Amino acid sequence: MKVPQFMPFVDMSDYDALKESFEINWITEGPKSKKFNEEIRAKVNTYYGDFAPNGTLALYLALRAVGVKSGDEVIVPNFTFIATANAVEMVGATPVFADINSYDFQMDVDVCHDLITEKTKAIMPAHIYGFAVDMDKIMDFAKKYKLKVIEDAAQALGVEWNGLRCGGIGDAGCFSFFADKTITTGEGGFVATNDEMIHEKLLYLRNQGRLNRGTFIHPEIGYNFRMTDIQASLGLSQIAKFRQIVDSKRRIHQMYTDLLKDVDEVNVIQPPESVTSFIPFRVVLTVNEDTSLGVMAHMKEHEIEPRTFFYPLHQQPCFKKYVSPYGQYFPNGRYGEGAFKNSIDAYNKGVCLPSFASMSDEQVKHVCETIKSYYANKKVEVNV
Ligand SMILES: *Cc1c(COP(=O)(O)O)cnc(C)c1O
Repeated sequence: MKVPQFMPFVDMSDYDALKESFEINWITEGPKSKKFNEEIRAKVNTYYGDFAPNGTLALYLALRAVGVKSGDEVIVPNFTFIATANAVEMVGATPVFADINSYDFQMDVDVCHDLITEKTKAIMPAHIYGFAVDMDKIMDFAKKYKLKVIEDAAQALGVEWNGLRCGGIGDAGCFSFFADKTITTGEGGFVATNDEMIHEKLLYLRNQGRLNRGTFIHPEIGYNFRMTDIQASLGLSQIAKFRQIVDSKRRIHQMYTDLLKDVDEVNVIQPPESVTSFIPFRVVLTVNEDTSLGVMAHMKEHEIEPRTFFYPLHQQPCFKKYVSPYGQYFPNGRYGEGAFKNSIDAYNKGVCLPSFASMSDEQVKHVCETIKSYYANKKVEVNV
């Protein structure tokens, strides 16, 4: 039985929704985008929101809109999709990596105090795997050091921290509608904000430095970061299935939890109580041995597609430039021994299990049986 890591939840209802855009003959941003924008804002609970071509560019736009520029430093988690840090690079600023906690792999705000310099302009918590960063601590931290907060909520549409919607808590929150996110428009992104000034800045930046199309007077320098109504149509039919997608993802997470609870060698990671709406982006598992490579290889032999966890950013080949001749990162005393221990540990021991709305019970069972058989065989090997 083949079990892919992920499949987008698209069906005939999405196809029908697309047809509407063709029927009314409006394919660039128009009525569907307006409606989809309203629906997303309702989910995030913000007054304003603006589309971007994808999540990476949503992060870039948000950084520009809050005023981060060349020479600034932005604190980002050491454990996230690379785009979080690359968006910082894109505005010419420097990403400064912060380790994560060991229980649900979210940015550890307590270690960020040591990372502050006079150049620090913003902090960019990324809500990973359906859990949420401690936004109470983030907001206190940002207030103390007068920083802007940009939430990378690409994986966190509908996720809540203590009753507050992720992506709607900081100065700006960024979403992605890539194929493997909770809902998809193929490619797509969104910046949510409650700040009218940020919203206005976003409008100029995304639409050639003017507020409306159809005029050739451009008060500011801007670019084209728009989406299309074709994508928004898909977004609307996806959001109509939001409840169904979320229910399936939660059910799959629960099934994995139940079926693997007696396997002492692995842990299916559970949300802490403060994550009041948990929407598993993937089902994440850690092994108790030193590395998850063995169990992942065994899964692949059984036609299951596991994924590793994120590779720690401080070890990324593309961030080699931050390594000093002494082998330290940012060699100004900010990092001590073991500064990235939790992200290194997470990478070594983590596995993202297949999880998608259309996944069958049989597929979940097959994955769990395969994991069990791996550890059962290992025990036999140890005993002989
Ligand atoms: C997917 C993702 C992004 C980037 O979104 P794209 O739409 O692929 O550009 C950024 N951050 C995180 C945490 C993501 O999961």
